[in-house]
Parts: sequence; structure tokens; C-alpha cells
Amino acid sequence: MTKDVKKSTNQFESTLTCKHMFAILKIVSAGDKMELKDIRGLGAKGIEKLARLGITSVYDLLSYYPYRYEILQRTNMDIAKDQEKVVIDGIVESLPRSFYFKKHMNRMSFRCQAQDRIFSVSIFNRSFLKQHLQIGTNIIVMGKYDQKHNTITASDIRFGVLSDAPELVPIYHLTDGITEKQLRQYIENSFSSLPILEDEIPIEISRTYHFLSKSESVRIVHKPKDMNELKKARMRLKYEELFTYMLKLNLLKRERKTEEGLKRTEHHSELQAMIASLPFQLTEDQEKCIFQIERDFLSPHRMNRLIQGDVGSGKTILSFLAIYLNYLDGYQSAFMAPTEILASQHYDNMKKQFQNTSIKIAKLTGKLTAKEKREIYSGLENGDIDVVIGTHALISENVVYRNLGLVITDEQHRFGVSQRANLKNKGLHPDILYMSATPIPRTYALTLYGDMDISSIHTVPSGKKQIITTLKKETEMKDVLMAMYEELKKHHQIYVVAPLIEGGDKEENKDVYTLEQNMNKAFGKVVKIGVLHGKMKPEEKEAIMQQFQMNEIQILISTTVIEVGVDVKNATMIVIFDAFHFGLATLHQLRGRVGRNDVQSYAILISNHETERLSILTHTNDGFKISEEDFKLRGSGDLFGLRQSGDMIFRIANLKQDLNIALRAKEDSERYLEQLPEDQIEQKSICYLD
Ligand code: ADP
Ligand code: MG
Repeated sequence: MTKDVKKSTNQFESTLTCKHMFAILKIVSAGDKMELKDIRGLGAKGIEKLARLGITSVYDLLSYYPYRYEILQRTNMDIAKDQEKVVIDGIVESLPRSFYFKKHMNRMSFRCQAQDRIFSVSIFNRSFLKQHLQIGTNIIVMGKYDQKHNTITASDIRFGVLSDAPELVPIYHLTDGITEKQLRQYIENSFSSLPILEDEIPIEISRTYHFLSKSESVRIVHKPKDMNELKKARMRLKYEELFTYMLKLNLLKRERKTEEGLKRTEHHSELQAMIASLPFQLTEDQEKCIFQIERDFLSPHRMNRLIQGDVGSGKTILSFLAIYLNYLDGYQSAFMAPTEILASQHYDNMKKQFQNTSIKIAKLTGKLTAKEKREIYSGLENGDIDVVIGTHALISENVVYRNLGLVITDEQHRFGVSQRANLKNKGLHPDILYMSATPIPRTYALTLYGDMDISSIHTVPSGKKQIITTLKKETEMKDVLMAMYEELKKHHQIYVVAPLIEGGDKEENKDVYTLEQNMNKAFGKVVKIGVLHGKMKPEEKEAIMQQFQMNEIQILISTTVIEVGVDVKNATMIVIFDAFHFGLATLHQLRGRVGRNDVQSYAILISNHETERLSILTHTNDGFKISEEDFKLRGSGDLFGLRQSGDMIFRIANLKQDLNIALRAKEDSERYLEQLPEDQIEQKSICYLD
């Protein structure tokens, strides 16, 4: 494999970047590169629809794996129970008759002979099948058995006979206008001219585990003959994804360990003085963390550290202290926030924090005028500005720094490998500090963030009151409104969260605009109500946030855009409608919007569903525990969003379910790199990391 990579590198080098090259290499022996349009039966319309599923190449299509399988196995009708789901194959015994009702509904019934018996079969809205259901046609019927009436209410009817062994039918995530059958057909048709897919697992490792080849595995996953073969194929594909991911992390780590860090000197006493000037004492975890950062700075290697800790555990102050140290070394810092609102908030806090120093801070946001932007750009270029705060534009746009020494990203997932590469391409090698308010258990952290050093902040600053969380059903709305009223009487402010922006049923409180109306009915006479959601323009959002911050708005109704970091101290209650829509970690983050001072704060979760899951939140305020539970319950679903999607496109692996494979792949990739000659490691670095 490595040979191929090398040979082709020379061949393509002049015209293609390594990334493109890799995409092509994946279908290495196809001769001519096969495109979607070359697939039999797939036209322009189909291609457009596939794009909606994120499929834009044959490789995408082939790695669009089923998310589950239906097992088609003949039910023995002699022992089938009433209301049981059954599968039978037989022949049509009477011509179907259709009945139409309502506007577009129809029901079709016919008799079917199977297993030496006659069943009546009925199915809704499939009258288009009628012409194909001639007497004597072989069909497979899936549905629910009504014993008393000897009827099967079918959910699906297919043509053909069942094989004696159980048949595995792949089920895919679909989009409007593409059926299961079409997708299966496209995939199958791309097999017929299937190029040999390149294995990304090194041959030695493949041999050790007796892995199937990649092409074989892909074929099997889409068209398994039996469970045994399917298991092997899935295992192999999972391993490959995890191995590649771990290899990437290990390469990153290696790269960092071989790169020299920035020149820095010790400023311990200044740091201590700054800490002593804070209005509070650092917690033990905070203290440990800032000294770890100090040590990272002084070590000969670059820092790549993640601070994870609950909302309100005091990560931000640590980043300020790191900025201070960086400033003392004469370097500039860039602070990236996920949203402009948060950028503004950090800017204000930082100004306050550094008011007695000569540190110059600038805020770079989208709404600055061209002239203002130019001024900041030139300030960064000539070194007048020490710290710049903004969104990821700080790195991705053409900002030139005089001597960038530290990049901090609040909510690390928005800053991926690609942005890091971006820095590198600009010849920048700053130390990097990530902050995450979505703490995850240590084992997962080690796999997911294998390329970083991790500081965990477990304790929340003392004096902070626990947020009292209650779970309510929609029928208990009166209690909720009463509780809200109590807080408003105390001149406190309230967040209200809904899962949707608009389009919810008018009777339900699922979207922000309906909620606004309902809340206005309840409280409109007493307080002012504002709305915030992701589709608003940045300046609209900021204006609303500002009003809430200034207590000009008392109830803020929003989608989850307030999820991260917003800090309004007078807000003491958050009410979350249809809470079951959200993961525990998200809900926990949301409730972290309140309890920002020492006044008792409340979270009310309203949900008619999944109350057992949600009740975990009423019992604990510990983010690490909550994420552990979330993992147990939902797999790594939430986790996928944690890292830049491009870093980690797991199409089949699941970090929680496949943790053992991940740990194995991590070890293997480490060992593999250790024995690889230097030039090949470099080659790999270029291919995987750029
Ligand atoms: P995070 O960034 O982890 O969500 P913040 O840094 O915003 O948390 O801290 C939340 C609040 O707690 C801030 O108002 C901050 O000033 C305060 N704070 C931070 N550390 C301490 C501490 N050790 N003792 C008391 N208050 C603290
Ligand atoms: Mg924060």
C-alpha cells in the first residue's frame, strides 16, 4: 500500500494536493476513475438526491452503510401468536380489491396461500401494486397477524420466495424521493464495475487479525449472505475507521513532539500575583490546571491541551491566565469563541480582567466596518494588539499575526485538524488550548482526544448553589407558570427553550414563536419577552442578547443557540420544553445558563416522554457523571458532534459500542508508527494531516 502511495505521489504531485490524491487512490485500481454518473440506472435527478445524503462520489456511495438490518425469516404460522409480527411467502390466491377512503387513502385486500393455509392479507396505500398481484404470483408478506380473523395486515409486500436461511435486508437512512430499493440498486450497480478499494489497514495487521479485504467487506455489508459474514465485515470496516483515526491522532501527537515549542521564560511570580489579585481563590483543580499550562509553556514542545469541565467550573479564568503568561513572553493570543455573542462576552470579561495591565485587546467580529477590520488586521500584523477575540474567522481568514503564540478555542469541537493545518500552512506554530464544557469520561477522552493532554476540572467553585432541577409533564403547565411567576416577582430573569423555531402545532409548545404567544398571554402584561434563534441575523441576535443582559427583557425564548457560555447573572430559571428532544449533555449545558451567581436557580424540564432518562438530571449536577450516563444510553451519538466533523467521519464505528476495538486500534497504530521508517511517517503525515 505504501508503495502505491509513493508511486502515485510522484505521478500526481504537480497537479493535485495530497488529499485529492488520497481520494483518488481509494479507488486505486479502477483504471479510469468511476463517477456516480457512470452507475447504471443513476441519472441526474438521482445524483441530486444522493447529494442530499452527502453522497457525491462512488466512494461515498459505497461507504454509505446500512444503519441496521431487517432479518427476513419465514414465520411458522402454526405457532404464530396473535398480533405478532410475521413474515410469510406464498402465492396470490385471489385478485386484490381496493377500497378508497378519506382523500388519498386506500386499502387493498386479497387472499394468499402459504404453508398449506389461506390467509387474508390487507395493506394500506399500495394499490399501485395491484396489477402485479396476479393469481399465482410469488410474494413475501410482512406484517402483523390477527389470529381471530386469520388476517395479516401487511407493512410490506415483496415479490419472490424466501430462502430457507434467514435473509438480511440492509436498511439505510433515506431522504425524500429515494427508496430503500433504489439505493440498494445504485449500490449494487456500482459493485458490478466495482474498483478494488484500497485497504487502509497495513497488510501485517490485516494478516494478524485475518481481516477480509476492504472490497469484500463493503460488498458484504451491503449484501450479506449470513450473520457470520456480516459480523466479520463490519468488524473489519470499523477497525479500519478507528485505526485511521487513531493513526491520525498519533501522527499529530508525534508531529507536535518533534516540533520545537516557542521560546518562553518563567513568570511564576507574576502569575502568582495575578492569581492573588483575583476576587476569589482558585479551586484545587483550577490551580493544578494553570500550573500544567505553565509547565507546558516551559517544556521544549508545543502545548496541545484540553481543559474539560462543567459549565461554570471556571475554565475561562484559566484561559485568561494563560493569555497573561503568553503576553509576558511577548506573544499574541487569539481567542476563538463559537458565536459572536460569546466572543463579545469574553471580550468584556477580559477587558475587566486586564484593566490594570497594558494588554491591548481587540474584538474581531463580522459586523465591524471594513475600516475597523483593517485597523485590527494591521494592529495584529504590526504587533500593537496583544489579544484578539472573535469567531473562527481569526484563523481561517487572511489574518496576519506578528507573533502568534497562543490559540484558545472555547468549545473545542469547532476547531479541527483542518484549522490546525491552516495555521501550519501560514507558518504559525502557536500553543493551543481547548476548552470544553462537555466533559467526557476519561477512557473516552483518551481515545477521542488521543492527540491532546487533558486537564479535567471536577469541582465547581464553592459557594455555588446546586441548580434545582424538576421534571414536569405538559399537563402540569400551571405549576410551571406559577414557578416562573415566583421568579419574576423576585425580579429575576428566565430562559425558555423550545426545540423548534417555528412550525410546531399551535396547541403545542414546541416552537419559539408559539411559545412567545403563549408566554405573552401569561406574562405579557408584567414583563417583556424576547425571542432568539439561530436563523436571526447576528446583529439581531446580539441586540436581543444585549437587552436580556441589561434586563430590558425578562423572559428570553430561544432555541439552543444559548447553549454555550452565555452568562447573565440575574437569570435564575430555565424552562425547557419537550426536553426529551435533547441529549442529557445538552440539557446539562443548557441549565448551566442559570446558577451563575449565588442565588438559588432552577431548571424545569417539561416532557411527556423519556422521563426516566431525563430524571438523571434531577439527581445530579455532575457533568462527568451525566455524560457517562448519556454514553450508556445513547452511544456516542452526541460525541460525534464534538470534534470537527471532518476529523472524524465514522461511518460504521461507534466509539462507545466499539470502545474495545478503538483501544486496540490505538495501540496497534502506535506500534505501527514506531516501526515505520522516518520517510514513510512523513509521507503519512502529509497525506493524513494536510
Ligand atoms: P466556565 O468557563 O467553565 O463555564 P467561568 O469561567 O465562566 O466558567 O466561571 C463561571 C463563574 O465563576 C464566573 O463568573 C467566574 O468569575 C467564577 N469563578 C471562576 N472561578 C472561581 C472560583 N475559583 N471561585 C469563585 N468563583 C469563580
Ligand atoms: Mg466558558
